Formats: sequence, C-alpha cells, structure tokens
Amino acid sequence: MELFWELFKCRRCGRCCYTPGAGLVLERGDIKRISEFLGSKKRLRSMCRKGEDGTWILKQPCPFYDSSEGCRIYEVRPLTCRLYPLHPPLKDMPFNLAVDSFCPAARDVAKKTLGWWAICEKHWAEIVKSSQE
Ligand code: SF4
Ligand code: SF4
Repeated sequence: MELFWELFKCRRCGRCCYTPGAGLVLERGDIKRISEFLGSKKRLRSMCRKGEDGTWILKQPCPFYDSSEGCRIYEVRPLTCRLYPLHPPLKDMPFNLAVDSFCPAARDVAKKTLGWWAICEKHWAEIVKSSQE
C-alpha cells in the first residue's frame, strides 16, 4: 500500500477541489478539526448542506480552494481529501479498492502498475488505516 503513495505524485491541478459536485461528507473528526482551525463551527456550517441523515456535506466547488494557494486548510483537511484519489469501499463490495480515474495523477499510477491493483485490492483495510495515522 505504501507503493501507491510512493508512486502517486499529485499534479496539484486542483481538479478534485474546484469541480462542482454533490459535495464532500465530513466525518465528526473533520468537523471538530476544521471548526477549531477556523475558530468557528458556525462558519463551517454555513459552507455545508445537511445530508438526509444529519451529516454535514461540504459544498462543492470547495470553499477552501484557492487557485493560487491551493487548499487553505491543508493541515486540517477532511479525511476524504487525505485519502483521495482512493475511495472507501462500497457497502456491497467491502473489499474493493476504488481509485478515482477523474484524477490525472491516479491515471499515471494506473498506467505504470497494471498488475499491482489486484494485490492492493486485498489490503484495502490496511490502506485506509495507514492513511488515517
Ligand atoms: S485531481 Fe489528482 S492530481 Fe489533481 S489536485 Fe486532485 S489529487 Fe492532485
Ligand atoms: S478541503 Fe482542501 S483538499 Fe479538500 S476539497 Fe477543499 S480545497 Fe481540496
């Protein structure tokens, strides 16, 4: 799993941050960390919409993205951003590793490592755990 992050070289294109989309679900830890960083939970709330189950969903394009500076909350960015372009497995496919082909740097890795994905797929839980540490 380290191999993915060793090979992955973010192009800093910002595509994952500035593209309009459904939004980015914030974990409890994300809300706490980012609110503390901003000094206001209310401010973060104003940048989110509420999901059906009460979750906070950060609006997209991301309000924290700056075209010259990049991510303005990089040190405290949400877990989803830390894992990207890897995606959590779907409920009905818990052991499948999903890599977002929308990301050009992920496509670079895929081109170099075709056979490697099958191995990586079996270790998804470890990948997620090590990315959270
Ligand atoms: S889309 Fe991929 S290459 Fe571009 S900034 Fe996001 S992670 Fe980096
Ligand atoms: S929080 Fe930062 S890394 Fe995440 S989408 Fe927004 S600008 Fe990008």
